[in-house]
Amino acid sequence: MYEPGQGGEYHVEHISPTSRGGSDDMDNLAWSCSRCNFSKSNRVELLDPETGEQAQMFHARTMDWTDHFEWSGHLIVGRTPTGRALIHALDLNSAKRIRIRARDELCGDFPPQSRATPIEE
Ligand SMILES: [Zn+2]
Repeated sequence: MYEPGQGGEYHVEHISPTSRGGSDDMDNLAWSCSRCNFSKSNRVELLDPETGEQAQMFHARTMDWTDHFEWSGHLIVGRTPTGRALIHALDLNSAKRIRIRARDELCGDFPPQSRATPIEE
């Protein structure tokens, strides 16, 4: 989702929390909405709601989004324990987020452009 449609400013998120030894290096930072940042907090593992087992936290700098997630309409679907756990922990398919994605689609901003997909000129 894009910052202008969120109704709030994004935060610089430490993917590996500083309270757990994470650094301020660029490869440990991600741009995050405040809701995701506060929901994630200092966790490094999350619960996979399908198995009830701990799953590795999705790392936006080192993991490929499409390995762990896919779109089903405006819903994000987890393809792996890591994907399912993040969707559940951050409530990525909340009613508000679905409405934002529908609005983004009307503006031509949904689905988001994948980093792996070259931009046509
Ligand atoms: Zn967010």
